[in-house]
Amino acid sequence: MARYTGAVCKLCRRERQKLFLKGAKCYTEKCPVERRNYPPGQHGDSKRRAKVTEYGIQLREKQKIKRTYRLLEKQFRLSFEKANRQRGVTGENFVKILESRLDNVVYRLGFSTSRAGARQLVLHRHLSINNNVVNIPSYQVKAGDIIQVRPKSRKLDTIHESLKRVSDRHVPGWLQLDKANLKGTFLNMPERVDVPLNANEQLVVELYSK
Ligand code: SF4
Repeated sequence: MARYTGAVCKLCRRERQKLFLKGAKCYTEKCPVERRNYPPGQHGDSKRRAKVTEYGIQLREKQKIKRTYRLLEKQFRLSFEKANRQRGVTGENFVKILESRLDNVVYRLGFSTSRAGARQLVLHRHLSINNNVVNIPSYQVKAGDIIQVRPKSRKLDTIHESLKRVSDRHVPGWLQLDKANLKGTFLNMPERVDVPLNANEQLVVELYSK
């Protein structure tokens, strides 16, 4: 399945919540979810809705997480299976795996205003981890890793524009940002309660255990 490249705001409206897919616009009152919080389409605000099944609820939650982290079905499933093989609570492991993806970490550090933009930065070899170039968006960052914009990329406007907005979003506590040196440290793996993900991953666990 191809990566979704259509109007991303529709995806948020479908889930009736902000998934922060569009970058800077997400933090302004131009965000359509702020203005029209009902699903897209002609009948999106209709009062007549189909009965929602348990499966339907689980599926919506899965879509929400998949779209938030901008993953394809296969990547999503592989990450889940990895979480399922680990010790501990599968749902929590799953969120930790998604959070420690390099593209997500680059986004959380504020080098890009969206995960899609962060993914592009990684793919175009603008970042290094512990001084080694890494261009794999799904790369799992570990505690102590240092993520830095490479010297050749330090003048990129897109990174500086994004960092100017970083105070809007706050860098989470498990990361440390050194703005002056365009560098971030992954201090530790976050606990689930600390991850600002407004979704119930347990429903995905139930969906996949059928
Ligand atoms: Fe669009 Fe961002 Fe608002 Fe989602 S959160 S509807 S992507 S502006």
